[in-house]
Amino acid sequence: MTHRVAIVGAGPSGFYAVDGLLRARPDLHIDIIDRLPTPYGLVRAGVAPDHQGTKAIVRQFEKLLQQPDVRFAGNLEVGRDLSWDELTAAYDATVVATGRVLDRRLGIPGDDLPHVWGSWRFVAWLNGHPDFRAGPDLSAVRSVAVVGNGNVALDVARVLAKTPDEMAKSDIVAEAGAAIAAAPLADIHVLGRRGPEHASFTGNELAEMGRLARAAAVTDAAALQVEAPAGDPTPERLRKAKNLDILKGFAAVPPGGKPVTVHFRFHAVPVAIRPGEIELSTGVLPADLVVTCIGYDGAPLPAGDGVFAVGWARRGPSGTIPTNRADSHAVAQQVLAYLKDRDPKSGPDILPPAVDAAGWHRIDRHEVAAGAAQGRPRVKLTDWQALLDIAQGD
Ligand SMILES: Cc1cc2nc3c(=O)[nH]c(=O)nc-3n(C[C@H](O)[C@H](O)[C@H](O)COP(=O)(O)OP(=O)(O)OC[C@H]3O[C@@H](n4cnc5c(N)ncnc54)[C@H](O)[C@@H]3O)c2cc1C
Repeated sequence: MTHRVAIVGAGPSGFYAVDGLLRARPDLHIDIIDRLPTPYGLVRAGVAPDHQGTKAIVRQFEKLLQQPDVRFAGNLEVGRDLSWDELTAAYDATVVATGRVLDRRLGIPGDDLPHVWGSWRFVAWLNGHPDFRAGPDLSAVRSVAVVGNGNVALDVARVLAKTPDEMAKSDIVAEAGAAIAAAPLADIHVLGRRGPEHASFTGNELAEMGRLARAAAVTDAAALQVEAPAGDPTPERLRKAKNLDILKGFAAVPPGGKPVTVHFRFHAVPVAIRPGEIELSTGVLPADLVVTCIGYDGAPLPAGDGVFAVGWARRGPSGTIPTNRADSHAVAQQVLAYLKDRDPKSGPDILPPAVDAAGWHRIDRHEVAAGAAQGRPRVKLTDWQALLDIAQGD
């Protein structure tokens, strides 16, 4: 008899928890449960489809799925297909790794208009999440407002700005790629409510905006006469100073040199959204599409004896994939300490039928083979039934 641990959520934080647990207790039985038939959470559904290098982290997670006492149970939503109470009663410990992806709203008039999209809904569409198959109508979109000053705002602006050639090696879903390519896009406004010295872009992602084939990144030099806040810790100050240098390069670019212009606008606080435009504290801009990249909320978490949260579910929507490693490893230590003086529970296996690792591998092989025919890393299945049929070997 050994302890059984349920990990709910097969994103990075869930897998890093598996890793932390197995390093100390290779004998543990671990079930990693996800509501989707596919693992890897936001690495599959959030990370931009043209950043395949970032998505390569899944190779590490894949190795964990191959451990003999680790079971993947996909297409199983805790709270719907089995209750949190049933789960926590049956397992010796439960790790909640469910993430946090409810789009936050701007809270201004017009933020619920149909042309206003939260970044999760938008990025999940690009990435083929089966719950988000319908995208925005881009057929008459000339001007886009991307609200926010983090890397998700850059992802959205970049994927809109890139040419089909630049996206050719990505795994963007075909419908989204075609809609973007056909849109009459001319201007993308990336809007920060504060100054550039507060933007949370990282340098590589910001610099990439200056190297796009059909889009020129521009900004107003007047906003850049600032320094990174002196009170920030050194790494933050260095990051912000680098951002300011990159933005100074953008300020030297003459507008109009390429078919699309990405405008970085600062001190631009959204006040109201109307069809075709966004009103800012600084004036009104045309905006046929507004994408808000202002963070995420989460559903309330279960709590109780033997229940531990990790990742975005625990910390909120901040931190990169690697941030979750240290966090999940620390929580794994708490789980191990909790299990130390407890006898394993002896009840039956309560998991309903689910998509197992073999089922996921059938999906994976199918997608990769479909991609190979087009020179892409994969062509994702976006339809629930198609995913389940392939998982079952139909
Ligand atoms: C748009 C976007 C782009 C990003 N780009 C990058 C990037 O380029 N580089 C980088 O380092 N970081 C990036 N991040 C951050 C990174 O994705 C997160 O740090 C990381 O995914 C958080 O991991 P997590 O395991 O906590 O949550 P998630 O990755 O969200 O995983 C949660 C999992 O739980 C499952 N789940 C939820 N509820 C249930 C339930 N009730 N039952 C069963 N399963 C459930 C979900 O299906 C999901 O698979 C990005 C984030 C976003 C939103």
